[in-house]
Amino acid sequence: MGLKARDSMPDTTKMKRVAVIGAGLSGLIAARDLTAKGFSVTLFDKSRGVGGRLSTRYAEAYEFDHGAQYFTTRDEAFASLVKTAESAGAVAPWPGRAFYLKTGLLTADTGGARWVGTPRMNSFAKYLANGLDIALHHRIKKLQKSSDGTWSLFFESTEKGKIQDRSGYHAIICTAPPAQATALLPQSFSEYATLSEARMDACFALMIGLDKVVDLGWDSFRVSDLPVAWLAMNASKPGRDKTKTTLMVHSDPGWSNENVETDRAEIQSIMTDITTALTRLDLSDPAYVTLHRWLYASVNQSPERPCLVDGSQNLVACGDWCLGGRVEGAALSGKAAAKAVTEMFS
Ligand code: FAD
Repeated sequence: MGLKARDSMPDTTKMKRVAVIGAGLSGLIAARDLTAKGFSVTLFDKSRGVGGRLSTRYAEAYEFDHGAQYFTTRDEAFASLVKTAESAGAVAPWPGRAFYLKTGLLTADTGGARWVGTPRMNSFAKYLANGLDIALHHRIKKLQKSSDGTWSLFFESTEKGKIQDRSGYHAIICTAPPAQATALLPQSFSEYATLSEARMDACFALMIGLDKVVDLGWDSFRVSDLPVAWLAMNASKPGRDKTKTTLMVHSDPGWSNENVETDRAEIQSIMTDITTALTRLDLSDPAYVTLHRWLYASVNQSPERPCLVDGSQNLVACGDWCLGGRVEGAALSGKAAAKAVTEMFS
């Protein structure tokens, strides 16, 4: 089947090389779609693993999904991809006891299925990455157009201070958050102004591990009007180690933006105090605790377009920020980016 589809592609498409910057969900989906259409695709990511914000922190005896907490599916194609991933054991629904805090009462938070990667959030990304050409530990520093119209990528090598390059790409898809994409894409990118207007909110992720099992009667709850916006019992997700308590706490976007440069110890102390008040747990000396700062966590201002395309330079910017954020938005944006590149060469 796959071979047949490739054989029916025009010759020009077969030879085209595409570089995708970022192996988060949008980049992985774009790369999969383009590879299926016969393009030669390489993904580059600065991190040591795939998944971007679909991430898991391994910390001593504890594991925390410190980025995306769960995802929902509305789009048919994305829902079908998620179902296939479920059959492969890479995702599962999280039938967690979800609540939100309203006027001091925990009220049930009803809604559609909440999906999570299994046994970790990044398992979904690892499943999607299977068979793709991925260069990890490659922080792209610069793009440059050659006289033949192809693009070169310059990246930091693992050898300190040394910049290396890879050249000959017919198209580039950049999935970095807008603030980083504006530093990479040339100002001649026809959608540069739209890209520059997109904004992301910061978020602090407080991870607390307890060496005993605690059941507070809920698995997640949302909070409003406090510096803390979300609490979850990470171990309540399917496939996680149930012999320990792993409490994941996220800060409110507005508060995070205001305090993005505040001393981390102070942030940790404020978030711990609020978590103590909300859970009534003694968190004065947990078995494990750490804080992570996400500079670009969720979308504040989005162009609300599937992706940004410059067809005259074969450049595309995409990511969750194009479609209002969230995992499904990232997937749909990656799909749109692959379609845009396909159209450039058809
Ligand atoms: P990313 O995952 O950010 O991928 C971009 C990739 O580009 C990264 O891997 C990065 O390393 C790489 N990169 C950037 N610059 C360079 C460079 N110069 N060179 C090489 N590589 C580079 N979504 C939901 O649907 N539900 C949730 O509950 C939810 N909760 C969240 C909570 C938090 C704290 C955070 C941070 C996010 C949450 N999200 C949630 C959002 C969700 O994680 C994202 O929408 C989605 O993962 C974004 O995918 P992406 O591919 O667009 O971007």
